[in-house]
Amino acid sequence: MPSHTTKIGDAEIVSLSDGHIHFQPSDFFPSIDAGEWETHADQLAPGGLIRMNIGSFAVHAGGKTALIDTGLGEGDHPFDNSEWGLLASDMASKGIGREEIDAVIITHLHRDHVGWNTISEAGGIVPYFPNARYYVPKADWDTFTRRAGMSMFAYIREQVMPLMEMGALELIEGEQAITGHLTALPTPGHTPGHTSVLITSAGENAIVLGDASHLPIQAHHTDWSPRADTNPNLSRQSRAELFDRMERDHSLVVSGHYPAPGFGRLARLEGRRYWRAL
Ligand SMILES: [Zn+2]
Repeated sequence: MPSHTTKIGDAEIVSLSDGHIHFQPSDFFPSIDAGEWETHADQLAPGGLIRMNIGSFAVHAGGKTALIDTGLGEGDHPFDNSEWGLLASDMASKGIGREEIDAVIITHLHRDHVGWNTISEAGGIVPYFPNARYYVPKADWDTFTRRAGMSMFAYIREQVMPLMEMGALELIEGEQAITGHLTALPTPGHTPGHTSVLITSAGENAIVLGDASHLPIQAHHTDWSPRADTNPNLSRQSRAELFDRMERDHSLVVSGHYPAPGFGRLARLEGRRYWRAL
């Protein structure tokens, strides 16, 4: 079993999981035909499905703890053959208390990234991380709160908007330092404000992808765009630039949707770029 923790300089990164979601490859990547998958069978789970981890990352650095993304949470969601709601127990099993979290950074406002932002307690909604400031990309706030009246975006009303009313949420825009070790890196396209997170410490760096990429195969096929990308061309461009940057900077490449724990390095073999798990 690969370790669920790793280090970048003096920063410790802990991989956490809320569960997993299964997708049909043809639903998830509608523009990729079935024949392509035959040559990439190693990317698929038994039954020919895409099995996606619902990962979050805690980063201990400089005496503070940040959490990147908060899973699907305990609510109802439209996914078959999937399991979620495990983040709280996973954090407990890895010795991280919710009151320890100083900052919660949300890469984008899809439902599988905000689910443990709040919980219902004594008939009201309260932050699940009581001592945290929450950071959300402004372009996603603008887009998703506009749709919050629709039933499929009810989660925005429960998991995102109350935090603004409580004064616990800050909007981020552009490349922006959030703590001394964490910087928001805009990688738009999956959603308008989609943001990856750069972690730096003692001359080393890691990048938490968010949904700039969902499967390791996109390290090579940066043009593979999932149905969920709101602007596929912009997403392709962001993904290509991000992978080029990570390759150039020898970044640790950290993904919540790649196979857990989601820590890997980029390598070249016969001209193809691969993500290799640590
Ligand atoms: Zn996602």
